[in-house]
Amino acid sequence: MLQEFDCIVVGAGPSGLAAAIFLRVDGWSTLILEKGDVGGQAGMAYIVSNYLGFPPGPSDILVDNMFKQLTKPPPEGLGAQLKTETVTKLDVDNKIVYTDKDSYKAKAILLATGSNMQKLNVPGEEKFLGKGVTYNAKKDLEHFTNKKVVVIGGGNSAIDAAVLAKTKTNDVKLVHRREILRANFLPRKRLERANIEVLYNKDVVEIRGDEKVHSIVLRDVKTKEESVLPVDWVVIAIGTVPNIELAKQAGLELSNGYVKINENFMTSKEGIFACGEIAGSDQHILTAAAHGALAGMAISRYLALEKLKRGENLPGAVAGKYPEEYMEMLKKS
Ligand SMILES: Cc1cc2nc3c(=O)[nH]c(=O)nc-3n(C[C@H](O)[C@H](O)[C@H](O)COP(=O)(O)OP(=O)(O)OC[C@H]3O[C@@H](n4cnc5c(N)ncnc54)[C@H](O)[C@@H]3O)c2cc1C
Repeated sequence: MLQEFDCIVVGAGPSGLAAAIFLRVDGWSTLILEKGDVGGQAGMAYIVSNYLGFPPGPSDILVDNMFKQLTKPPPEGLGAQLKTETVTKLDVDNKIVYTDKDSYKAKAILLATGSNMQKLNVPGEEKFLGKGVTYNAKKDLEHFTNKKVVVIGGGNSAIDAAVLAKTKTNDVKLVHRREILRANFLPRKRLERANIEVLYNKDVVEIRGDEKVHSIVLRDVKTKEESVLPVDWVVIAIGTVPNIELAKQAGLELSNGYVKINENFMTSKEGIFACGEIAGSDQHILTAAAHGALAGMAISRYLALEKLKRGENLPGAVAGKYPEEYMEMLKKS
């Protein structure tokens, strides 16, 4: 027999974790499945400066707090189950989640699979992945010691990666294809303070090497002139793309590259929900978490209604929460 949960959350990024909080406070059994590190993209950040109640500081602290809050048994935490497993397939009709290790059944499934790092799509990028090319500066930080590091991108995460790299080597450059950076003022201040050179109006057209990366080819956006820059490590931080593979495989409707949801966060399949960046939330930890929180509340209402329809009692936390009239309204809806 498959182990059954009220809700299975796929993805332990900020949106999935926030949804799990709101499911657990209402007393629903919740399993979170995460293929990598808890925190998702938030864990890839070096310094987070825009999360409410969290003074600018290392993302590790924020993510560690999220993990403890969710998994510690009550009353210290919310007692959600979290397993490191990759979800490989969804049976959306029978609400079964298949992973690389097991399979589980749920009354509701929440997809919170976030985004993957965007590729540069230039020769050498794939060949030298892990051999001088990375999308995650934090993971490869130790390799940067006293090396020549170039970060590609002009947004907050590119600057974050460049400032982080500067803690290991003096030779860090930021390459941006436009005339001005997209990042906001706090990361810019850090960039200035770290004294990192920015090469503006440059496209990276090739990554070269033999066993490992030794240089990149830059093309000036205005003059089209090409130049070769010696480099040991290239950090690609040019944005993200929604990770909608599972949703596509399950036949869920999409809209503009995101999973389509209604006002109750439900996808085109009954009982299957989505939140965070795959469902088009703004690309910040706080906004993804807020999206997840609203999704968690919507799923809680859905689970309550389904229980009432089956003539079952609600968990204590929910039974005391809604007045009689609300329950009647739910039943009729
Ligand atoms: C380098 C970097 C720095 C950033 N810095 C900041 C910052 O300082 N401030 C800020 O506000 N925002 C920052 N962001 C953006 C912010 O982290 C994201 O907007 C936010 O994490 C999105 O949350 P999410 O839950 O939607 O998705 P994600 O964080 O992408 O989480 C999705 C999770 O789902 C998991 N997953 C995917 N597929 C599967 C599967 N098949 N099975 C199991 N698990 C799966 C992934 O491993 C991942 O953990 C940064 C992003 C990056 C990349």
